[in-house]
Amino acid sequence: MFALLLLSLVQTASAETAPVAQVAAPIATEKTAAYDHVILISVDGLRSDALLVEKSHELPNFKRLTEQGASTLNARTDSVYTFTLPNHVGMLSGRIATGKYGHGWFTNATPKIHESILERTGSQVEGIFHVTAAAGIDDAMIASKPKFALFRQSWMVGEDAVIDLWMKETDTHKQLQATFDMLDPQKHPRSMVFLHLRAPDDAGHDHGWNMTPKSEYLTAVAAVDQTLGELFAFLDAHEEIKARTAIVLTSDHGGGIPHKNHHGYGLHWVNYVIPFFVWTPNMTGPQDLYAINPGQYLEPGIKMPKSIHVGPQPIRNCDAANLCMSLLGLPSVSGSTINQDQQLRWQTAETFKDE
Ligand SMILES: [Zn+2]
Repeated sequence: MFALLLLSLVQTASAETAPVAQVAAPIATEKTAAYDHVILISVDGLRSDALLVEKSHELPNFKRLTEQGASTLNARTDSVYTFTLPNHVGMLSGRIATGKYGHGWFTNATPKIHESILERTGSQVEGIFHVTAAAGIDDAMIASKPKFALFRQSWMVGEDAVIDLWMKETDTHKQLQATFDMLDPQKHPRSMVFLHLRAPDDAGHDHGWNMTPKSEYLTAVAAVDQTLGELFAFLDAHEEIKARTAIVLTSDHGGGIPHKNHHGYGLHWVNYVIPFFVWTPNMTGPQDLYAINPGQYLEPGIKMPKSIHVGPQPIRNCDAANLCMSLLGLPSVSGSTINQDQQLRWQTAETFKDE
């Protein structure tokens, strides 16, 4: 059903090849009020249609993100890769993996102890933490897979020690406690938190990306919803923190082709269609991110546009990097190419400049 829904959307072709690296000219945006805390949540292996299955779990907190914020269920992964590490490097650096300006991290294995992005690619790839560190904003990576050591090994050594707190933790309650600590204005007047939740990916690999109501996969998505509920409960109980906090939530990939995986058989929509949510406490949603970004972004129907250089683009998970910088009132990540001009709005054009 979701595929039919997507197929019914207006499809406007964009060029698939590009001779030059030239992003679409941005509409000038007024500088908006900055938030003091931004939480970027990556839900590993979250397929968009998992949020639409009737007669399964209620998902009240994804519903809250949708109804109060700006979102789309038709965002995209990296244009080539639909697995974890290339998408997270993209999400944190504002680049896709391939091409002259790509971040160049194509593999998914846990890096060896000596490996870093610099060591692998020969040039440093900066990320959101470089910007927050330069601005004196405390930052944390609260990850739940060993392969995220890549970021510790790349961005927490020598001159590039730009992450204040790196942790690998699979207990979501401990992950949330670390998140809440980063929101404590006494300890961290401003902060940037990357929070990685892995349960849907685990369930998908163990049992398949099964859209049958109450399947293991959908139960794992419901567990993420409960974690979001605990985050919202914390914010609701701390109004002064909530007023200064923004949330961005997306995913690194979906899954299901082939069964119990998301790595192959060419690009397939079940692997590359992901959600993207923006929530701030003073939004008046629901807003469709494509509808409030006309000319800048283009809903891609069911397809995966390959070129990042020509014409309006789908909203991708790697838009998140510079969106977070925009929410914090910071400049874009050096070397980034996606949402480089912070053109992705989370409010209508009329209200955007006033927020
Ligand atoms: Zn993943």
